[in-house]
Amino acid sequence: MPSLYVHIPFCVRKCEYCDFYSEAAGERDIDRYLVALECEFTLRYPDGIAPETVFLGGGTPTRLSAEQLRTLGEIFKRRVDLSRCIEFTCEINPGTLTPEKADALVALGVDRASFGVQSFNPDFLKSLGRIYEVGTPPQAVAMARAAGITRVSMDLMFALPGQNLTQLRDDLHQALSFGTEHLSLYALTYEDDTPLTRDLQSGKVQPCPEELERAMFSTVGDFCAKSGLQRYEVSNFARPGAECRHNLVYWRVGEWAGLGAGAHSMLDHEIIENAADHKAYADALEAGKLPFVRREKLTVGRQVETLLLMALRLDEGVEVARLDALIGEKFTARAADALETLTRQGLIECGAHLRCTDRGLMVLDSVILEIACVLDRTTALPA
Ligand code: SF4
Repeated sequence: MPSLYVHIPFCVRKCEYCDFYSEAAGERDIDRYLVALECEFTLRYPDGIAPETVFLGGGTPTRLSAEQLRTLGEIFKRRVDLSRCIEFTCEINPGTLTPEKADALVALGVDRASFGVQSFNPDFLKSLGRIYEVGTPPQAVAMARAAGITRVSMDLMFALPGQNLTQLRDDLHQALSFGTEHLSLYALTYEDDTPLTRDLQSGKVQPCPEELERAMFSTVGDFCAKSGLQRYEVSNFARPGAECRHNLVYWRVGEWAGLGAGAHSMLDHEIIENAADHKAYADALEAGKLPFVRREKLTVGRQVETLLLMALRLDEGVEVARLDALIGEKFTARAADALETLTRQGLIECGAHLRCTDRGLMVLDSVILEIACVLDRTTALPA
């Protein structure tokens, strides 16, 4: 059985930098969405689904009221067998949690909370358009713990406009002061057509200088290592055993079913994409149709590319034997030139696993491109 991702595409309001699919919808839209979600479960998994990991993401799952979360819990009871589940994560925007919602999450089966904090600095929270004040995240973590959610992860951003290393260290220090077992640390990116990008284009905000961003990347790694959190993925750090098992399924390119508007699935080497519009999603399901807008069976070439793209993000890298099996010959012979150059430059290591060094992780995109291009330039991969 694949892992299960469920997308809740609703937020209180859009953050300045966000290009994820989410909307500020009304209660009736949300109620309708939950009915449609159950239809998708029924159509796709008429006999139910028994995933090992579940991730409830968004959007903001905790934008739902406590009652709507309880409704979601009823849907899960009818459609999802959690007896084999080893991890059930819910993304939480700290500004939306209440004790009642935390209880509803626990009743749903959630045992891990991923708090989208982004920063503890009031100026950055404001410029990012986050909906809460500095004092809110500690209260939200306390609520989750009081309800029985023991595993806590936090998302922070760095390379924010005007941010310096001291401010970053302060954010890291505060994040870890809650006994956090897992941190996700992403450099701010300027996505197309967001208010923040428009501010960048008009000169209202200045991007973080590249050199400072590199220094921040190193600071994040050093700070976490000293605090007992190991980098296991380029942007993710965990205490031993606290890695996000669900996200590891993505990075190792396993199988997962993504349900909900805008969700993606990877099943039997096929990418399935749902309509990223909650109304179109509900319309389709009310008409008894699946809400798919794209189905792409990956060729071997695309499978190799996807595997490199995802697994080279991991500290463990990618198993060379898996690449051999995929391409039907020795990967190390096929990509010998690129591997030799990248090894000489100190960017990769290649034994039983192909992995990036710390330096390689800083230029991950070009490392992947170099290897993928070499595979592309040689004879065609089997279909
Ligand atoms: S809470 Fe998350 S998903 Fe919602 S707008 Fe902000 S960044 Fe985007």
